[in-house]
Amino acid sequence: MRSPAWTWDELLLACALVVRNGWRELRVSDPAVTELSELLRSLPLHEGIARKLPEYRSVGSVSRKTTDLATKHPAHAGKATKGGNLDKAVIQAFIEHESEMLQAAQALEEGIGSGQLTLIPEQPDEIAEDGSTALEGRLLARWAISRERSPELRRRKIGQARKLGQALQCEVCAFDFSRMYGRLGDGYIEVHHILPLHIAGPRETGLDDLAFLCANCHRMCHTSHQGASWRTPDALREEIGTSAFGSV
Ligand SMILES: [Zn+2]
Ligand SMILES: [Zn+2]
Repeated sequence: MRSPAWTWDELLLACALVVRNGWRELRVSDPAVTELSELLRSLPLHEGIARKLPEYRSVGSVSRKTTDLATKHPAHAGKATKGGNLDKAVIQAFIEHESEMLQAAQALEEGIGSGQLTLIPEQPDEIAEDGSTALEGRLLARWAISRERSPELRRRKIGQARKLGQALQCEVCAFDFSRMYGRLGDGYIEVHHILPLHIAGPRETGLDDLAFLCANCHRMCHTSHQGASWRTPDALREEIGTSAFGSV
């Protein structure tokens, strides 16, 4: 049995090492390689049987991956070592969105380090319909989705709105479930983190970090489009305003 292919999340972490190292490979003796090897071996991305292989994400394999990534940068002189299309896509994402990708790597490292991230079960929406992963990777998307489904957070946010006499309506398009669906929609609204986890960092959520959205606008805030895997409610409102069918 061979070690399973590297996933987006794993490549994101390895490529972050390469970027922090000035787009140079890292040797097996580098402590950062040992650290990443241990981190990757703890990730719930592959089946248990694969994770027991001695070669699986060993320091040697991590170091080799940093060579693959460093030599595939378009500015690298000389021949590239092997590596698949996913390697190239991750490199491209780092070239186009360096700070966002580095932030994602950091949030991922912190989430894994604290043990929080590895306990979250797979979420139904963590991979888009076309099979692609969000820019920030599958694990951070999983964490973000599970955190938005927290009944406690929802209860607190709705409680605050009720106390302030605010209607439970979408902050982008003003859709109101109870107006449309009567008693069936009474009290229904989706709760969304304005900034995604990999941008805001894994800090505790305040009620001001949350927005009310209808199901459609919520989906649009999370949809991957032209390299961006999320947008704020404000940005979405602006997009509706400038689209051909917009009402503004
Ligand atoms: Zn809406
Ligand atoms: Zn959301």
